[in-house]
Amino acid sequence: NTMPNTIFKIIMKKILFLFLISLSIFAQKRPKLVVGIVVDQMKMEYLYRFSDDFSNDGFKKLMDKGYVFHNTHYNYLPTYTAPGHASIYTGTTPAVHGIVGNEWFSRKLGKEMYCTDDNTVTTIGDGTKDEGEMSPKNLLATTITDELRLSTNFKGKVIGMSLKDRGAILPAGHFANWAFWYSKTGAFISSTFYGSQLPQWVTNFNNQKRFMKYIDKGWDLYKPLTTYNESMTDDNPYEGKLYKAEKPVFPYNLKEMYEKNDAGVIRATPFGNDILAELAKEAILNENLGKDNDTDFLTVSFSSPDYIGHIIGPRSVELQDTYLRLDTTIADFLNFLDTQVGKDNYVLFLTADHAGAENARFLADNKYNVTNVEPKEIRKSLKKFSQDTFGEDLVLNYSNFNLFFNKEIIKSKGLDLHKVKQSFKEYLTTQEQVKRVYTEEEILASSGADFYLNFIAKGYDPTQNGDLVILDKPGYIEYGATGTSHGTTYTYDTHVPLLFYGNNIPKGQTSDRKVITQIAPTLAQLLQITFPNGTEANVLNEILHTKK
Ligand code: ZN
Ligand code: ZN
Ligand code: ZN
Repeated sequence: NTMPNTIFKIIMKKILFLFLISLSIFAQKRPKLVVGIVVDQMKMEYLYRFSDDFSNDGFKKLMDKGYVFHNTHYNYLPTYTAPGHASIYTGTTPAVHGIVGNEWFSRKLGKEMYCTDDNTVTTIGDGTKDEGEMSPKNLLATTITDELRLSTNFKGKVIGMSLKDRGAILPAGHFANWAFWYSKTGAFISSTFYGSQLPQWVTNFNNQKRFMKYIDKGWDLYKPLTTYNESMTDDNPYEGKLYKAEKPVFPYNLKEMYEKNDAGVIRATPFGNDILAELAKEAILNENLGKDNDTDFLTVSFSSPDYIGHIIGPRSVELQDTYLRLDTTIADFLNFLDTQVGKDNYVLFLTADHAGAENARFLADNKYNVTNVEPKEIRKSLKKFSQDTFGEDLVLNYSNFNLFFNKEIIKSKGLDLHKVKQSFKEYLTTQEQVKRVYTEEEILASSGADFYLNFIAKGYDPTQNGDLVILDKPGYIEYGATGTSHGTTYTYDTHVPLLFYGNNIPKGQTSDRKVITQIAPTLAQLLQITFPNGTEANVLNEILHTKK
């Protein structure tokens, strides 16, 4: 009976093998620190287009030694900064987490409100009164950072930072130790939501007025002009002007801009990224992030690429220079993490809060029949249509592709709301830029069969969105003639980088389609903690359960 014996041996070997595999899964050492990097308005394309000019230690290191998801997309409308950050960290979409725009019309308040407005808290640090009246109270779902705080019995620290308040506050969640954002005074500030005064190390950082060294130096090309052959000429008609610069060309005299404005001018330069990276390093040092066995989480959102993209455009030398410099900033930061936290002790991911469109005039000049439409022109035409048809302006607000009707006037005039909606829908459909118009009823009844309606439904919170939602045609932007914008469901706005790197992250890549809401549940699985409460929990299996 050698046969059964052999089979027995094979089975035993298999069992032992599976046992060892499962051991290696469950014995994975938790990282001591998670670093979440969001690059505001970064298109996946930039990792390819500028690749020849990147160093080996920044973006390329993350790509070569980590895991690259080449085909990651946003899955809702509107693709803006606040919904983007909220969706990355909650693992769900605006329909669930409630952050339906950067600012949106509130029927309750009768006016637009800002995503992180909170007038029950006040500024701490050297900022203006308004700049610090901020908290995550409008965020309706928990974040991965919230779940980490709960799972570690509040011992794991969570700190969020960005030049933008919303880029710092939303990722850090409800239970954060701190969130810091940049004031036009040049200081990083916070709000009483987090504490009664800034930590001493932040005050020290602010006292050094580090922004001045960048202002004094000015902004010139980082590399010789010939390096920038992936971009248009420095002076082109699709560029806006930075802080009223005479021409959209290098070198930019930041001192002059600073003197005419304030320390906020650093936002629309690559040095906004550098000063934030300096603060991130100070946070790691002074808060001892990644030093004990309770995992800490640092969220860093680089806002400057978005400001520069909006003003100067996605094919400008200025934008390319920003990414070449950000590459070195990231290289330096990785090096710092390796020495300070230790190569095997952290996990880092890098993504974006949305991507961005081409400048529509540029496309039109190259024979694609699209254009930009000024938002105030849309509002004007809606007003005219309403007055011509109903004798009165029935539109309360048009923002984030949402149209809100004045239901009181409609009622008092004895109009049928349903008929008003249909009438506006028919009118809007005749507008050159409009592809589809959906009513609230259509959105809430959607089954997911209509590709675009699915995006809109995922971004639609009936308590906060409008009566009609407009989807523009691809290529059109609701924006000025220069620079660019974002917000739509099209791939140029949805396709963002997604890179994972560090502790137990395998080296590899995939081009399978992934969605942005997969990041947070994947991190939860990686950390073996509770999933954020609103997520559908579709994880990125490619980077989980790997043998080291
Ligand atoms: Zn953004
Ligand atoms: Zn230029
Ligand atoms: Zn933007």
